Amino acid sequence: MYHRTETRPVRVGDLTIGGSNEVIMQSMCTTKTADVQATVAEILRLEEAGCQIVRVTVNNKEAADAIKEIKKQIHIPLVADIHFDHRLALAAIQNGIDKVRINPGNIGRREKVEEVVKACKERGIPIRIGVNAGSLEKHLLEKYGYPTPDAMVESALFHIGILEELDFHDIIVSLKASDVPMAIAAYSKAAEKFNYPLHLGITEAGTLFSGAVKSAAGIGTLLHLGLGSTVRISLSADPVEEIKVARDLLKTFGLITNAATLISCPTCGRLDIDLFSVANEVESYIEKLKVPIKVSVLGCAVNGPGEAKEADIGIAGARGEGMLFRYGEMIRKVPEAELVNELKKEIDHIVAEFERT
Ligand code: SF4
Repeated sequence: MYHRTETRPVRVGDLTIGGSNEVIMQSMCTTKTADVQATVAEILRLEEAGCQIVRVTVNNKEAADAIKEIKKQIHIPLVADIHFDHRLALAAIQNGIDKVRINPGNIGRREKVEEVVKACKERGIPIRIGVNAGSLEKHLLEKYGYPTPDAMVESALFHIGILEELDFHDIIVSLKASDVPMAIAAYSKAAEKFNYPLHLGITEAGTLFSGAVKSAAGIGTLLHLGLGSTVRISLSADPVEEIKVARDLLKTFGLITNAATLISCPTCGRLDIDLFSVANEVESYIEKLKVPIKVSVLGCAVNGPGEAKEADIGIAGARGEGMLFRYGEMIRKVPEAELVNELKKEIDHIVAEFERT
């Protein structure tokens, strides 16, 4: 698929966002940032799930001070989420933050903006401008009457203009809305106006199930259009779930090459094995694999063998047993009770082969 590559590449810690680089998965901590132990524990869980950049709220001095210690204990770039208070931005920068999310137009007096920009420049720290349909500037609401995609883009351009005037260009922009069509229109219009990398998100998307659907609809559409350099799925759930959804979404569009995919059937009256348990167990097993293999789990021998051929390894259920397929060839029959373990062993073999080549 097409993926927009002409964005400006922007360094965030040891990653480069934009340009021809992979789409990066982000999440945000739910902990009080000042609680270093809890925040680090959550970030380490996110790292393990595949999170590549993590944001923390910096809403007070204690949170800004905690950054120094948090940074020592984590391995991915850390972003400070700051609203209005330029002193917190300066403290976060001082304490080693890798990126600042702040809207320069909300900082206040020009000298304050200059101070933040100067500090970011000195340390090579980028700024994300986060436009949100729910908090557009007063002058734009007066002009447009209510949040619209054009108003959101104008807001982004307003903040970008302030940074560009100060010759600052390490910018990443998000234009989030909880209304999916509005977010899609805003991001699409923004991509025509500037070439800074876009951080995609559908804000306040909802709980795990509905939020995943909404985010997949919005972010998926944008990815399909070739837009987006980073993604965050916003869920009212454990942030690890955000990464799981993000990874599956990127996999769907072929934007992650080092992840395993599960193909499983919805089941029907032909089903001969306990497929839901098998599929869930296999899904958990392959979740952390870093190889692009396809594993299929099909309920019966009707479509099973045909579908299994599309996968690297798979099973098709039969009465009380299952057929194991490898690269489309049936390799053996296995009693149902041993099916999952045998499949796992075959997956391990394939993974080892991938790692050797
Ligand atoms: Fe039904 Fe078999 Fe198709 Fe699964 S693979 S949906 S059990 S026909």
